[in-house]
Formats: sequence, C-alpha cells, structure tokens
Amino acid sequence: MLLTGKCAIITGSTSGIGLGIARALAEAGADIVLNGFGEASTIEKLRSGLAREFGVRVGFSDANVSNAEDIVGMIEETARDFGHVDILVNNAGIQYTASIETFPAEQWDSIIAINLSSNFHAIRAVLPRMRQRNWGRIINIASTHGLVASTDKGAYVAAKHGVIGLTKVVALETASTAITCNAICPGWVLTPLVQKQINERADRERISVDVAKTDLLSEKQPSHEFATPEQIGALAVFLCSEAAAQIRGTALPVDGGWTAQ
Ligand code: NAD
Repeated sequence: MLLTGKCAIITGSTSGIGLGIARALAEAGADIVLNGFGEASTIEKLRSGLAREFGVRVGFSDANVSNAEDIVGMIEETARDFGHVDILVNNAGIQYTASIETFPAEQWDSIIAINLSSNFHAIRAVLPRMRQRNWGRIINIASTHGLVASTDKGAYVAAKHGVIGLTKVVALETASTAITCNAICPGWVLTPLVQKQINERADRERISVDVAKTDLLSEKQPSHEFATPEQIGALAVFLCSEAAAQIRGTALPVDGGWTAQ
C-alpha cells in the first residue's frame, strides 16, 4: 500500500471534503487522525468504522483550529500516540457571505483564523518533525476563491488567496528537502458548507432548492457538475505519492472549468 506506515492529520474531517480525504488516505494505507466538530457518538462511529474498513489506526482530536494552542496540542498528541506526523492536510474551513460594508468584523476574524491562520500554526508546528524524518506532505485545501473572487465573500476570498501565498512560501523553504507543500482548489463540492448557500439562495430568490442548485452550478462551474470529496481525496493521495515529489508550491483546481473562464 502506497502510504502504509505514514500518519496523516486531516483538519475538519468529520464532514465533507475533509472526510473524503481522510477516507482516501486511509484506503491508501495511512494511519489517520480525524479532527472537527460533531456529536461524540457520531464521531466515534466514524472513527471505529474507518479503522475497521481500512485496517489502519484512526485517532480523533477535538482541537478547535481557531486556537493556535489547540493546533500545537493536536500535533504533539499525534506525534506522541503515532510516533510521527508525515502528512498534514489543512482542510477545516467556514464560510460567511455579506457585502464588505455589512460584513460583521467578528465573522472576518473567525474566517481568517480558521481558514488561514490555522494553516500557518499547523505548518509551523509540524515542519520541524517532518525535517527530522526528511519526508513530508503538506496539502492545503484552498478554493477557486484562492484564485479568483466572487461578491459577498471578502473574508473567504482573502483567506484563500492567503493560503495559496503561504503554500508557495512553504514550498520554497522546503524545496531542497523531500517535503512538499501544495494547495488544492476545489470548485463547488456538495457538502454541508455549500448546501447552506444553496438553501439561502432558494429562500432569497423564492425558488426551489433544486433550481437553486442548478443555478449555483451554471453561474460558475461550466461542467454543471459538482466535484466530489472522493475526487479531492484521490488528488490528495496522488500528491502524497513519489510521482508527485516535484510538484511544489502549486494551486491545483478541481473545479469543472470554473477558473478556465
Ligand atoms: P464542511 O462544512 O462539510 O466541513 C467542514 C469541516 O471543518 C467539518 O468537519 C467541521 O467540523 C470542521 N471545522 C469547522 N470549524 C472548525 C474549527 N474551528 N476547528 C476544527 N474543525 C472545524 O465543509 P467542506 O465544504 O467540506 O469544506 C472543507 C474545506 O474545503 C474548507 O476549507 C472549504 O473552504 C473548502 N472548500 C469547499 C468547497 C465546497 O464547494 N464545498 C469549495 C472550495 C473549497
């Protein structure tokens, strides 16, 4: 198995894209540490189910990635329990939409903390450990909104552009090592984060949820199809392979053509 003997932390992996990545890494043989919010019993079912399905060790950390101390604690605890941390996927993220003039300052602060600063704190804590073992993969889940903008997403677009900038710096600082750092830029993926935006659109425009979903896709995503957590997971596994050893500092879109326009 490609990743047998490796240990991966995937932030925000109790749902959506993060869970898709966690499943794909576990299927490739990596031990994984899940992180995120949710009912304790649901998370435990998820954790033990993945361990059983893929025959790997699966841990869970309830670290809140808006808090630097929590992030450092999660990495130290993983290193203690699993012996090493080889793969870090910075995926946890939130969204809030409003025009700049009406954007609540506290929402700005939360989005910058969770979607951007968390990546810095986690990379800063994990890199010395990866350097010691001279191998590592850092994958930051940015967005098409790290490459282009949309209205009403000031904080999110700023954070995701920041993630891509940080990705490039880390890639350069590790360029002569066997540690790589890249960003994945999903377009629309049907997760709870996007379902909320579809529901809000249906309410606002007084249309059905199905029509709101079709409108959302046709506005931005030329394929008119959602990308899937499985597809993002498969790309993450590829980035962990030796074939991807010289892919460094990139921002890879999985967006049905969104950013080709
Ligand atoms: P989601 O809402 O389904 O999952 C988010 C995950 O992050 C959950 O596990 C949640 O518990 C966790 N989380 C949220 N705040 C956290 C915190 N403070 N500390 C720890 N965990 C926290 O969302 P998703 O759509 O799967 O998004 C995952 C990532 O992908 C985000 O960074 C998002 O910006 C990005 N993204 C999503 C899409 C999309 O279309 N869904 C597109 C581009 C980028």
